[in-house]
Amino acid sequence: MPTSQIDMTPDTVPAGLRPEALMRHMRMLCEEIGPRPSAAPQERQAADAVEALLLRMGIYDIQRQIFKSPNSIGWMTLPCFMAGLLGVGLAFVGGLWGRIVGGLLLLGSSAVTYHLLFAAPPFFQRWIARWPSQNVIARVPARGRAAQTLYLVGHLDSQKQRFQFPPPLTWMMRAQTSLPVVVGVAGGAVLFGAALFEAPVPPFWLGLLGVAYLYAVLGAVVDELQLHVEGANDNASAISVLLGVAETLQQQPLERSEVVLLFTGCEEVGCVGMEHYLQAAAPPVDGTLWIDLEMVGTGELCVVTRHGISYLSSYRPDPALVEVVARVAQRQPWLRLKGKAMVILEEVATLRRHGYRAVCLAGTDARGRLPNWHRLADRLEAIEADTLSRAACATWELLRELDRRGDLTP
Ligand SMILES: [Zn+2]
Repeated sequence: MPTSQIDMTPDTVPAGLRPEALMRHMRMLCEEIGPRPSAAPQERQAADAVEALLLRMGIYDIQRQIFKSPNSIGWMTLPCFMAGLLGVGLAFVGGLWGRIVGGLLLLGSSAVTYHLLFAAPPFFQRWIARWPSQNVIARVPARGRAAQTLYLVGHLDSQKQRFQFPPPLTWMMRAQTSLPVVVGVAGGAVLFGAALFEAPVPPFWLGLLGVAYLYAVLGAVVDELQLHVEGANDNASAISVLLGVAETLQQQPLERSEVVLLFTGCEEVGCVGMEHYLQAAAPPVDGTLWIDLEMVGTGELCVVTRHGISYLSSYRPDPALVEVVARVAQRQPWLRLKGKAMVILEEVATLRRHGYRAVCLAGTDARGRLPNWHRLADRLEAIEADTLSRAACATWELLRELDRRGDLTP
């Protein structure tokens, strides 16, 4: 039986996927470079380091895409929340026109916020995308004629500590992210109703709306003032897995699948790198399958079966891909891979919005949350080398399974 047909066991893990090899990459990213803010020099340094390592492995088909991006998510959320606050203020002082303009501002704020929950760029993106960032794209050809392209995705940047995203209490997350959308629609309706019937807006309503937007603005400002996290789990863990898989692929290329390793910039500010890649490279929807890795360095490994960070914005991965992951998990129980609905927003949102077939592998803690998500505790010390290695093995086995199947047409 050719080796491509034999399942991996803990004793036959290739060198590149073993804990010590992956932790070498982790130390390079977390200790030599440290936090990698979106569009900052450290993000570029990570891109340079990844490229140098790939070249050393003998992978020469590497491209770099440069694009412009906002350098913080606050450039999107703060204008939305401030527009809401301004709308309430106008309704308070401004008579009929104050209510109409105020209502429009609330509805507009709600609509933009809603799109942000799917990582869709706001209409004012071109004015806030002012900092250069980059994607690194490496291709590993198939041994034979390639019938499909398998994409592996991991983002280079790391987030600030953010107490609104996620809030300290788990149950608050989806309620809090739904709030600006609901408040904008409800508040807008009240203001328009008042304008239509030439009635005053009850001060209680205005007070409630004002408090909601003030809470959102102040929370966003507090978050903007936080330090950047080291991002060991989010997402150096994914970068190290991609590098480990690249090394393994160099030694054992897939039979009939080309693999593209896509290291994206500016994921943390609305998946800007992925959006740019899809626009600029326009990969075909047919014949490409996408595996995104997020925070795979600790906890229980899962394939995410439902994504989304609010009650209003869930999205699903490609069902056929989830089934293939389930098949790998069933055949190799030692990988301890499960299916799980998670509170998460990442590049699968962008990919699914554009019609691509994508799935995400992530790690979760015992309570089903992303461990140390956007907290300063997301450091190298919190990484479990064994989990990281299992994530790399799961990714590798998933690639091999997809290569064996060849065609996933539903
Ligand atoms: Zn991430």
